[in-house]
Amino acid sequence: MKDEIATLQIRVEFGITRMFDHACGNCEACLRGVLLSCTEPWAVGVEILRGAVEPDVMLRAVTAAAAFASSGASTDAVVLVLSDTPTLAKLIRTIHTGPVLESTSSADPDVRAALQGLTPTGRPDAVVTDRQGRAAVKAVVRGGMVALPFAEVDAPSVTELVQREVTLVGPKAVQDLVNRVGHRTEIEAFL
Ligand SMILES: [Zn+2]
Repeated sequence: MKDEIATLQIRVEFGITRMFDHACGNCEACLRGVLLSCTEPWAVGVEILRGAVEPDVMLRAVTAAAAFASSGASTDAVVLVLSDTPTLAKLIRTIHTGPVLESTSSADPDVRAALQGLTPTGRPDAVVTDRQGRAAVKAVVRGGMVALPFAEVDAPSVTELVQREVTLVGPKAVQDLVNRVGHRTEIEAFL
């Protein structure tokens, strides 16, 4: 977790991973819709998701997808998902109508060949990753967007960001993802 007082907490009970939102709904951050930056989190949270998935996978996949959900990416953007697990790509495909490619590595020759056929530059318009921040910045088209999770990632240098004019987007609230998908049970089906 990034913050000492986490507004998003995960507990495992009887083999089920449960995510709780502790945001107060009333502080300045909450009123701006940035629930993950809540400054007055409740001691007791509200359950927002549950699934038979590792806690770290749930946190990273759900918050990276939430970042993409609130990013304003165009509906036909070519998106590359960089992740070691299939969960994140499944979530992105539920909220994005354009092409979604997935790989564990941006150097994957199959993905590179597919991108050559989809975009003039051979690079994706947006990259969503749950861990590989630096590889994502290097892979995305110049001026593109990278969506990151509410967790530590392999971070790009400032120079890399400036040179490539990449915009980094983080999650504001998991609710953004739930709203885009329609209902939490549809997300839970992928966990
Ligand atoms: Zn708050």
